[in-house]
Order: sequence, then C-alpha cells, then structure tokens
Amino acid sequence: MNHADCEVFAQRWTEAIVGTSYVAMGRRMLARHLLELTQQLVEGFMAAEFDPSVGRDVGVAMVEKHFTGTDTLKETLALIAEWLPGLPTPAPPRGDVASRVAQLVGSLAAGYASALRERSLDEQDAIYRAGLRARRQAEQALAASEAKFRAMFTEAKMGIGIGDLEGNITDANPALQEMFGYTREEFTRLNVSSMVHPDDAASVWEVYGELVRGERDHFRMEKRFNRRDGGEIWTDLTVSLVRDEGGAPAYQVALLEDVSERRRLQAKLHHQAYHDPLTALANRQMVTERLDQVFAGPASQRRVGLCFLDLDGFKVVNDSLGHDVGDQLLKTVASRLTRCCGPGQLVARMGGDEFLIIVEDTGGEADMAVLADKILSALAAPVRVGGHALTVRTSIGLVERPVADTNPADLIQAADITMYQAKAGGKGRYAMFDQHRNDSEVADFTLSATMVAAVARGEFYVVYQPLVDLGQGTLRAVEALVRWRHPTLGVLGPERFIRLAEESGSIVQLGHWVLARACEQAKAWRDAFGDAAPLVSVNLAPRQLHEPSLVADVIQVLADNELDPSSLQLELTEQSLLGDDAGPLTMLTKLHGMGVRIALDDFGDGYWNLPDLRRLPLRELKLAGSFAAGLQSPCNRVDQRIVRALVDLAHALDLTVTAEGVETLAQCERFQAAGCDTGQGAWFGLPGAAEQIDALLRAAELRDAELRAADQLCNREAL
Ligand code: C2E
Ligand code: MG
Ligand code: MG
Repeated sequence: MNHADCEVFAQRWTEAIVGTSYVAMGRRMLARHLLELTQQLVEGFMAAEFDPSVGRDVGVAMVEKHFTGTDTLKETLALIAEWLPGLPTPAPPRGDVASRVAQLVGSLAAGYASALRERSLDEQDAIYRAGLRARRQAEQALAASEAKFRAMFTEAKMGIGIGDLEGNITDANPALQEMFGYTREEFTRLNVSSMVHPDDAASVWEVYGELVRGERDHFRMEKRFNRRDGGEIWTDLTVSLVRDEGGAPAYQVALLEDVSERRRLQAKLHHQAYHDPLTALANRQMVTERLDQVFAGPASQRRVGLCFLDLDGFKVVNDSLGHDVGDQLLKTVASRLTRCCGPGQLVARMGGDEFLIIVEDTGGEADMAVLADKILSALAAPVRVGGHALTVRTSIGLVERPVADTNPADLIQAADITMYQAKAGGKGRYAMFDQHRNDSEVADFTLSATMVAAVARGEFYVVYQPLVDLGQGTLRAVEALVRWRHPTLGVLGPERFIRLAEESGSIVQLGHWVLARACEQAKAWRDAFGDAAPLVSVNLAPRQLHEPSLVADVIQVLADNELDPSSLQLELTEQSLLGDDAGPLTMLTKLHGMGVRIALDDFGDGYWNLPDLRRLPLRELKLAGSFAAGLQSPCNRVDQRIVRALVDLAHALDLTVTAEGVETLAQCERFQAAGCDTGQGAWFGLPGAAEQIDALLRAAELRDAELRAADQLCNREAL
C-alpha cells in the first residue's frame, strides 16, 4: 500500500465530510489530519496481528478534532467500508478482509459514539458549573447592595420611609423616627393617610393619588406634618414609586428633609421685609404689595380709600424730649390707629411720623370721613411717655375712588398732596381730595418747576407801556411788563406766573432777567433818541428786595448799559416792606441815594399806610387802577376828593403821581384836574413791543421838529 493511495483516500474523505460539521480549520489542514487517521487505519487493517481498537482510536480522534456533524460518521463509515477491501493486500489473507473491515468500522463507530457522549457530559458539566458560579456571584452582589442600602437607610441624615401601595408604612429609618418622634414599630402601625395636615393644599393628596396609581413616578413638595408630641414640622418631601420587573407599581419610598428651621428663618425675614421694626405695623413695601393686590383683582365695582397721616410738630418732640420719647409716641400712635381699624383695613408706617391706612371696598368718601373722625378723636387723649403728657395732633389726607379709575401710585400721591392741604389748612384736621384744586395745583407746580429753564430758553419777553405826562401829553416813561410765550399754553400774563415765581424763588432770576432786558432797551432808546428817551420803570417783587445782591446787580446792569441811574425807576408794592427785616429799606435807601427812582406801585390796593410815604425813600406814587374806576362816574365826588387829597399829600412829600388804569378821556381829565403828573392805561396805549414805543418817540421827534420849524418861521416873521 503506497502513500499516494492514502492521500487519494484522505482527499476523498475530506470532500465527504467537509460540509458536515463545523471545524475550526481550513480544508488543507483537515485533509492533513484525515491523512494521518487514514494511515492509522491502513496500518491497523494491514497489521499481521490485527487489533480492531485502531478503529476506536480513529473514532475518538475524530470527536477530539470536532468532526462531529450529523452526517460525518455516516459518510466516514461508508467510505471506509468501500475503500479498505479494495486495497492490494499480499497480507492479510484475503479471507480476513471482510471481517477486518467490519471490525474496524464497528470499532470506529463505537469509539466515536463513546467519545461523543463523554464530550456532551463534559459540556453539560461546564454549563452547570458556570450556572452555579453566576448564581453565587448574583447572590453576592445582591447581598452587597442590600448591605449598602441598609447602611444608607440606617445612617442617612434624611428621613426615609417605605410604604406599600395602600399607604401602610412598612419601614422608617432612625432619622425619620427622630424627626417625628415615633419608634419604628409605631411607624409600621401608621398609614400615610393619618399624616394629613389640616393646612395641606388639596394638590398634595392629588399628586399622591397619581403616584400610587402609577400615573407618575415621583413628586416633590414642601409639606407640614404633625409630630407625635403635637409639634409641627416642615419637610422637603420627595416620594418615589418603585415598580416591579413587569413595570407594575410595587411600593413607595419617601425621603424627608426637616426644613422647619429654614422656614422659620424665611418667615422671620419675610416679616422683617414687610414690617416696621419700631411699631410692628406694615411698612411701605407691604403697602405697595397690598395695593397691587387690590388693583390686580377684578376692578368692576370695587372702591378703595387711603388715609394718609402726618403728625403735626413731631420733630419738636424728637428734638426737645429725645428720640426715645419720640419712639414711644410713635408706638402709641400705631396702636391707637390699629384699634381704629377693622378687617379690610391695613395700617402702615410709611416712615418717620407718616402713617397710611388702606381701606378696601369703601362705599364712598363718607366712609373715609368717618374713619378720619375716629382717628382724630382716638389721638386726642394725651399720650403719657416718660413722665410727659404729650398731645398728639395729626393732619390727615383722604382719598377715595373706584379702583377702575386710578392706580396705586396716583392714589398715594393724591393722599399725600391732600395731607399737605390739611396741614396748610391749619393742621389737626383732615382734608378730602379735591380734583379741581389738585388740577390747578399740578398746573401751578408744572409752571413753577419749568420757569427757570424757560427763562434760559428765551420763552419770556418784555413789553412796554407808556406813562404819559398829563400836562404836556408827552411820553415820560415806560413800564416794563413781562410775558411768557409758553410752548403749549400760549402767551401767559404775569398774573399767571409771578406769584408762583415768588413762591418758588425763581422770581430772583426772572426779575434780574427783566431788569437786564429793560436796561438794554433803555440804552437802545437813549442811543436812538438821546434825551427824549423815556425813563424805564421795572417792577421789583418782594422777594427780590430780600436778595442781598440786589444793589450790586442794579449797579452792574446800569454799568453794562452805560445808563445813568436816574433813567431807571423801580416799582415796589407796600407788601415788599412788610416784616421786620431792615434789609429792604437799607437797599432802597442806597438805590435812592444813587439816583435810581423808587416808585410805590398800586397804592390804594392794599392797606393804606400814609406814614410809610414819609418813611420810605420814594420819588413816585402810582395810584392803583381802582381809583381810575372810581373816577369814571362824574357823580363820584368822594373819589375825586380822595385822589386830589392824595395827590396833594404826595406833592407835599415831593413825590410825582402816576394814575394807573386810565382807560377813558373822562378819567384822564379828572386825574389831570386832580393834579396828577402822569397817566398810564389803555387811553394812552396798552403794553406792547418796544417798536410801539419807537413809533411814539419818532412821532414826538417829528412833532418837535415841526414845532421848531414853526417857531423859526414865527421868529423870522416877527423879525
Ligand atoms: P402793575 O405793575 O400795576 O402793572 C400794570 C398792570 O396794569 C399791567 O398788567 C398792565 O397791563 C395793566 N394795565 C395797563 N393798562 C390798563 C388799563 O387801561 N386798565 C387796566 N385794568 N389794566 C391796565 P400786567 O402786565 O398784567 O401786569 C400785572 C402785574 O404783574 C403788574 O402790575 C406787576 O405787579 C406784575 N408784573 C408785571 N411784570 C412784572 C415783572 O417783570 N416783575 C414783577 N415783579 N412783577 C411784574
Ligand atoms: Mg407796576
Ligand atoms: Mg401798578
């Protein structure tokens, strides 16, 4: 038997079994292995001493090499049974061939089967052992995680409770026991439903229901509980649903953190933020928020009122008796105010000695008046502080409106303004908000506040009114009168703004501006008309006479315009000289000494103080327009006699007299007859632009020239 025959067989064998089992080797390697087995078989078959166990070895070897597919054995046996008998055999004896083949094949099949069985047993064993190992590992991991959970459950600072889906508490950790004061056993006898707090919001138990029904996996909220000892505890509560492997709700776990201290602190801070520390009343912040709430609701028919109080003369208490007494007084006032108020009324301290009461859902202004009366009488009884019996008086501003018609800021402002009106009206009283009064005050305030800027913007201008010599009919002087060309209100006369300017003090700037303009104009006339230029008369407000710089200002303006002081007249009223201050008189005396003419304006309108006429450094008396009105009727002899007497008196004091408000020829003639020197009024010309005076001056110039020419003609004719 040669090697080539074996190779041929091994190749055939390879082809037969290559597709029958999964073998982790290539075709060539398989062929090599099968060649080895072929040679083993052939040697055994040919051996002189035949031993069929060779077949067994080959069967075992096939299983070892994993030639174990379903058809592998069948194909192998068929091939061997076919091929072996055909081998050229000098030996073994021919007669043995069939027997040897049968034995070899049988032995191979038996070896193969037993090896295969053993391998299956090994594999089962390995699987079994791996299974055991995996179970042991899982058990160990479970025990470890259980231990970890237990340690966490026991050691946690946070309360942990476990319950079933019916709400029965099945476990509670030490922190939770400590938090609530129940032992673990007591907890396990409780049901979650017994943990309801009377102040729980309905939503708390709604979300809890959703959780146990499996509709949500967890919820978190701040919730109050009652402790075993009856105390209250605030917690940050998180409840989670634990599901089984199938996803069905299994049990619930609650985590609770005690936040009572934090809540107490928050409540304290909240109280501090909204209350006045001295009186414990609500503060300004609370007022703002309460009003926002009132105005946030449906307005429809709601009305709201404010009562704004300011103690009268509280500063004196503080300054004379000290702040401790002041503080005690404020506390007493706070408690008396609180006693005057009921539900729906919030008493607040707005700061200092100011208090505000918000009255919700009022029925009209009368309700506020009732409250104010109640407060005034509650405060009437003296307050005993540190041995003093102090009388408290307060001024109260009331406002009451439909919510729909106003807003918080306007309401407070209205109450505040009204309180000041109550103070201005005499203190110790209340005033009710008056829309008309407020509108005109607001308009006045706006004018007043914008006046100085308006001067700078050039919105003011000066008009001039002639003062005519009643004897000659010539222009002797002009009065400078200020006007405001307001951008939205049109031209405003001095009656609209001089009083406001006086009150705010801006008359000082405005008056100086008028003086400067009038003197510039006087210089222009002097330059153009020489000695025929009129005297310029400028009004001085009382406040200006209290400005220490007045004299220096006048000197400066005159110098700036190279004017002689005698070309300027300053008009002042008797009111300017009331009071004890000697300053105005000193300044007038200085101005008079310099040669500036001082005129007493509107004489007869105020109270008559004839001795003043002697005391004051005057050069002119201007009779108020009321005399002109009196002189209109020819039957009014009394006024004529009074005017004549006044003119005589003035002349006796070396004063010139100007009649103001002369509107008719009759008035003009009567003043003339009474001896008046000058007239001013519509009869001679209303106040107008400087050009109007220019025209008068040019006309006079022309008249003079004509007169001179006529004179010259007469003289020539006479010669
Ligand atoms: P006043 O100084 O007595 O000025 C005369 C006022 O009489 C002017 O009113 C003038 O327009 C008005 N008037 C002129 N002719 C007639 C007339 O025929 N009949 C009547 N009934 N009135 C006539 P005006 O310009 O409205 O000034 C009013 C007052 O305002 C002035 O009274 C003066 O006290 C004050 N005033 C005007 N300009 C100034 C100013 O620049 N400074 C200050 N401090 N007060 C001024
Ligand atoms: Mg005047
Ligand atoms: Mg006047």
